[in-house]
Amino acid sequence: METLSIRCNHCGAPLQVAGNTRFVTCQFCLSNLEVKRTDSSVFTEEVAKIAANTGMMAESLEVLTLQNEIERLDREWGIEQTNHLVQGRTGPRMPGNPLFGLAFTIFFAVVCFGMASFAGSFDAPGIFLLVPIGMGLFALTAGIMGVAKGQTRETARSQYQMRRAEMTQMLEALKQK
Ligand SMILES: [Zn+2]
Repeated sequence: METLSIRCNHCGAPLQVAGNTRFVTCQFCLSNLEVKRTDSSVFTEEVAKIAANTGMMAESLEVLTLQNEIERLDREWGIEQTNHLVQGRTGPRMPGNPLFGLAFTIFFAVVCFGMASFAGSFDAPGIFLLVPIGMGLFALTAGIMGVAKGQTRETARSQYQMRRAEMTQMLEALKQK
């Protein structure tokens, strides 16, 4: 059988291969080589390089990166959800709808301020003024903070969902290539 004398494209070492060989591993540097033939010459090209040139390696790497990123996002969101549930059980119980909660606290505050002005009109001792005003202010602050907290959570949720949808789309696009 015909034997070809070729050189490793990676390290330049001389290699002997059978005439019909398509793929060979260099004995010296262990590169995977493809034997290419033209009418006038025979040469080798590294297989890894061929894959990189066609973008196959780069693409599968990108798919992996995206999959990892989505998993990380889900994991982080899962932890966030758990934390919120734990806080919800141990912390102060906020009404389900923050806006309803705010409406209630405003009503409560109005009643408190009303009591204060009622007490004021009777020239009652200062404590009958201060306590309802203090309670009203406290309720207002708590209500506004509750709404702010709810909005922060909503923002976080929509950011998570948007980011995830974006990456899922990119992943699908890559897979369809
Ligand atoms: Zn070599």
